This record gives sequence, C-alpha cells and structure tokens, in this order.
Amino acid sequence: MGKVKRLTAAVAVALALSVGVASLPVGEAFQPAVQVFLPTAEASTVSDLQGEYEELEEQLKDLEKELEELKDQKSSYMDQIENYNKQLELIEKQMEQAQEEKKQLEQQIEEAQQQIESLTGEIDVNFEQFKQRLKAFHLQGEASSLELLLSATNFTDFLTKYTVLESIAEHDLELMNNLKADREEVIATQEKLEQSKQEVETLEQRLEKKQKNYESLTEDSEKAVKELQKDEAAKKALMEEIDKAMEEVDRQIEEALKESEMGDYVEGKMLWPLASYKRISSHFNPNRVHPITGQIKAHTGTDISANRGTAIYAANSGKVSYVRNYDGGGYGKYCIIDHGGGIMTLYAHCDDVLVEKGDTVQKGDTIAKVGMTGTATGYHLHFEVRVDGEPVDSIANGWIVEPN
Ligand SMILES: [Zn+2]
Repeated sequence: MGKVKRLTAAVAVALALSVGVASLPVGEAFQPAVQVFLPTAEASTVSDLQGEYEELEEQLKDLEKELEELKDQKSSYMDQIENYNKQLELIEKQMEQAQEEKKQLEQQIEEAQQQIESLTGEIDVNFEQFKQRLKAFHLQGEASSLELLLSATNFTDFLTKYTVLESIAEHDLELMNNLKADREEVIATQEKLEQSKQEVETLEQRLEKKQKNYESLTEDSEKAVKELQKDEAAKKALMEEIDKAMEEVDRQIEEALKESEMGDYVEGKMLWPLASYKRISSHFNPNRVHPITGQIKAHTGTDISANRGTAIYAANSGKVSYVRNYDGGGYGKYCIIDHGGGIMTLYAHCDDVLVEKGDTVQKGDTIAKVGMTGTATGYHLHFEVRVDGEPVDSIANGWIVEPN
C-alpha cells in the first residue's frame, strides 16, 4: 500500500449553524442545522481519503435535505402571508363600506337635526302668532280673554265669544301639538340614527382591531421568512465550504492514486474499452478549450461517444484501485484500474460503476455503463491512461487502437 502526502490543507471548517425562528403562528418546529465537521484528520491512504470524501458527501446531503425543509417552511409562511393579505383586503373593503354607511347616517342625522330645528322654529312662530292673536283681542278693547267673556251681554253672546276664543285657542294648540308630535318623532328617528351610527363605529373598531392583528401576524411571518432566508444563505455558504473541501480531498485522492499497488505491468495491448463504437468526440489535448468552462485546460483522456448504458470494458486485467459511484466533480461516477508497473486506466462520466475497489478484473470484463455524470455535455466515455500518475495520449502512445 503506497504512502501518500498528508492532507496539508486541513480544511477545518467547524460551522455550527443554529438559526432559530421564534415560535410563530405556523410551521413545524424549527429543525436546528446539523453541525458540520470538515476533515481535520491526516488521511494517508486512498481509502481514508475516500472515507472523508463520503463523510463530506453525507454532510452535503444532510444540508441539502435541511435546505429543502427550509424552503418548505418558507413557502408555508409565504402562503400564510398571502392568506393574511387576502384577509386584510377583505377588512379594508368592509371598512370602506362601514365608512360609507357612517357618512350616510351622519347625513341623515344632519337632515333630522335640520327638521327638528325647522319644526322648533314653526312651533315658535305659531306660539308667537297665538300670542299675537290674544294681544289683538286685548287691543280691541278687551283687557283680556276674561274681560272679553265678561263683556258678553247675555249668555248666548258669552257662548259665542267663548267659542270664538276656544276655537282660536284650540286651533292654535292643535297645530302646535301636531308640530310638537312631529318634532318628537324626528327626535326619535334621530336617536335611532345615532344608535346605528354607534353600531357602525363599533364595527369599525372591531375591524381596526382585526386589521392590526392581521398586520402583526403578517409582520411575524415576514420576519420568519427573513430568518429562514438568513439560515438558507448560511447553509448555502457552508455547502460551498464543503464543496471546496471535497475538491481538496479529491485532489489528495488523485495524488494518492499516482502510486501503483501492483507489481509489473500485466502486459499486452489494451482492449478498446467500449462494446460499440461511434466516434471519438474529443482527443487527448494538453491545450483544449473546455467546452463548458471555456478555459484552456488539458483534456487528459479520449472521449468516445456512445449511447447511454453501453458496456464499458476493462482495457486490461488488473485491480480496481478506485471507485466513485456518486455523481459529483468533473469525472462524475468513475473508476480506476491499476494494471501494475505504474499503468492505470480511468473510466469517467459513467452511468453506473459495476465493480468495487479491490476487485480483480480481467481484460474485457464489463466494469461500468456509459453515462453523462460529472461535467459532460453528452453520453460518452472519457477514457484515460495514466503512466506513473500522469495522463498520456492513449492512442498516440499506442495503448489502444481506434477501430475502423
Ligand atoms: Zn474527456
């Protein structure tokens, strides 16, 4: 087993995230974020590194799950806010209606008031007229109605005078009584209107209270959303850290893989590594412009187009020295076979790797299926031959021969 450089860049990021959201109207109990421990160990073997990588991968998955939960919580708060806003709109409409009603009632009260005043005026006028009439009698020479009556020359005259007086009085009194009754009726109506107005005002107060309540609920939910967003951002930052750590471990793995665990090279020409051949879509090229990043970066292998699921063959016998059977990084799912003598072959972007680390494989064994994992623009096999850890052009160096 080859000894490898120690993990120099000890990526020690111990970020303990715990962003709490105050207990709010809705949503399940807030899940505190997991504590993430990035590797500090001095891994020296590929399998140690692999273990670290998987640990990081696990943490990343946990964070992803948590992020999903945060998103769910956020959207539930958003739904709530929307609901509150609908309620607030409804309340606003009701308040407008109440205000309109109050305005009408006030107008009616004002009208009643005017009626009361005008009736009061009429009563006053009639009373004044009544007094004037009595005065008129007086001016005619009779000092008073009593004098008028006493001036009767006989009983018939008395009755006539009495009747006249009475009828004048009766007429005036009746008129005034009617006016008084009218006025009382209007006052009663006005009182009812005042009562209605008070009811509307009570309704308004209730609506205002409701409005304030919904406004504060909305505010709480908005605060919760902000907290969740903060937590989300923190988790994303942490995920980036983990990504970087994974890249670093990856680099270390690459370094570690340069050393062969086998003896001499197994000998023989290598087999074309695919069950069916389409075409070489990209040759080994130290100065290739990367199709995705646009940067000049060596293309360290030979890309062979193939349908998804096409069998990938072990180019020669050997021992499986490395397997990554999860998507991630540039190679995606890939494996490396150690053929001894510092010669290794690498098979990248697989849909699935069928062998396990440590497996002994024979030349022509199906070890994986063609896929598009990692950084790839189409289904193909990225086939790499490494000599003492350095990728070489597998065709130009005669390791494999392109089929006709
Ligand atoms: Zn490639």
